[in-house]
Amino acid sequence: MNLMKKTYLLLFTLFFIIVISVSAWLALQTIKNESLNNIRNSLQTVTKTSYEALHIWISLRKKSLIEIVQDEAIISLTKKMLTIQKKGGDFISSAELQSLRQIMRHKMNIHQDIGFFVIAPNKVNIASSRDNNINQQNIIYINRRALLSRIFSGETLFVPPIQSDVPLLSSNGKYIANVPTTFIGSPVKTKDGDVIAVLTLRLDPSSDFTRVTQLGRIGDSGETYAFDSKGILITSSRFDHQLQKIGLVDVRGQGMLTIRITDPGGNMLTGYKPKMNNSDLPLTLMAKNAVSGKSGFNVDGYRDYRGVPVFGSWIWDKDLGFGLTTEIDVEEALIPYYKTRLVVLLVVLVVVILSVGSFLLWFTMERKSESSQKLALVKLELEVEERTKELRELSYKDGLTGVANRRMFDQTLQKEWQRGQREQQALALLMIDIDFFKSYNDLYGHQQGDACLINVANTLNNQIRRSSDLFARYGGEEFVVLLPNTSLEEARTIAKSYCLKIIEADIVHDKTEIEGLSLVSISVGVSSIVPSVFIDKAQLITDADEKLYLAKTKGRNRVE
Ligand code: GH3
Ligand code: MG
Ligand code: MG
Repeated sequence: MNLMKKTYLLLFTLFFIIVISVSAWLALQTIKNESLNNIRNSLQTVTKTSYEALHIWISLRKKSLIEIVQDEAIISLTKKMLTIQKKGGDFISSAELQSLRQIMRHKMNIHQDIGFFVIAPNKVNIASSRDNNINQQNIIYINRRALLSRIFSGETLFVPPIQSDVPLLSSNGKYIANVPTTFIGSPVKTKDGDVIAVLTLRLDPSSDFTRVTQLGRIGDSGETYAFDSKGILITSSRFDHQLQKIGLVDVRGQGMLTIRITDPGGNMLTGYKPKMNNSDLPLTLMAKNAVSGKSGFNVDGYRDYRGVPVFGSWIWDKDLGFGLTTEIDVEEALIPYYKTRLVVLLVVLVVVILSVGSFLLWFTMERKSESSQKLALVKLELEVEERTKELRELSYKDGLTGVANRRMFDQTLQKEWQRGQREQQALALLMIDIDFFKSYNDLYGHQQGDACLINVANTLNNQIRRSSDLFARYGGEEFVVLLPNTSLEEARTIAKSYCLKIIEADIVHDKTEIEGLSLVSISVGVSSIVPSVFIDKAQLITDADEKLYLAKTKGRNRVE
């Protein structure tokens, strides 16, 4: 396999992984945005619902209070009380107070209210269900002055929780001091519409106001709570025991009216200790926005009064003078998203592992088959080489005698001729022909002739001394010997020794026509030339051939 294919496959795998990762990332982004939208919607729905419920409850209470302040008996009793006040008389023991208390007891029973005030224009209580409140400066005046003056100017208002001035009977039958208490107040008017006093009802602290907000507790950490314009918590906190644990409130204390909705700067549940007091810290993002009169939401996350990251939605009511918020811990809100994300990431992981795995598997398999292919190729190449070598050897060998053939001679002549030219050395050639070989064949048969040829060839080939010398079969019963760096004289000497060697080989030839000889003999023609560009190498052969012919005519078995 080529590198290109490997690279393409690697790139493809990488591309695939990138595409998968990017799409997973985009999907997760979409899912996250969708989750955050849902969270926002839920928070807003809960906030609005709680707010509406509060509004309905408050307007019902206002309506019933307006009916009370229009009661003729109450108006006339109030007038009388004011006169007593003007005179500086003692109204605690007055019959008017007793009558007023009687009427009010009746009215308060309807909603299980726990007290009332009649407040004179100088903000002093001139009537109350308890004696010790009478002639005192009114608690609403002390704590929520602006609201009280609005009531004096004619509005009927809900007064958000304030710390009670007197111990109140709690739901478990005990009197508890400093518990939060809420009021509604309405002006007592004359027939002409002049405000002569304010009548307020003290509402049960564990009344519907707190109960409504408690309905907005979603999940394990979602809570709906209200706070006033200073950012003070005015409903009970869901996390009172957490607040006790992190020291924001006393051991058995509660967050309501005790803590400001401020950002501690770090998660106090995980041990963060704020540098300042709760009241000195900046308001939380939610509270800051709300008390500045803005309703809104945040699903980017911000720290609540415990320092825990939360999402929230909030409403500020200018008329009521307090805000309402619903918040939920980021951690809890995002659980469904985290679960989805885990599944998506696992799927991506599996896909990536599978694709990388299959790439590696494919890669190793390719490499294995590649190496076995390579091995086979090497084997084949070796075989081919060997065969070619054999063939080459064969093609340069004479089939019958096994000595070099004519082709080998031609090539060697070419080479040696050039070398002779360069080195200016004589190149000698012996042209050898067996005498009367036709008659040898005729006499002993062709097979015997072949054997004789082999014998002569081997005998002469064995005489070769120098590696540069070449003995070759030229054709038929003719042989040549190429002798580089050999003069004519030296060549003749060698030729003579060859003639002798053949005689010594003692091959019987009864039909040779040479006088006194019945053995196979050879005739040799010798030539030697110093090669040059002006001479054709064929000249060497022609010369030797001529000399051979001469030797034949001169009687054979000789060198010429
Ligand atoms: P000369 O002394 O003049 O050379 O006489 P000659 O008979 O040797 O000459 P000629 O060229 O007439 O004969 C050569 C003979 O060699 C003819 C042929 O039958 C024989 N011959 C050539 N090649 C082979 C071979 O490969 N095997 C055999 N057995 N005989 C061969
Ligand atoms: Mg011949
Ligand atoms: Mg011959």
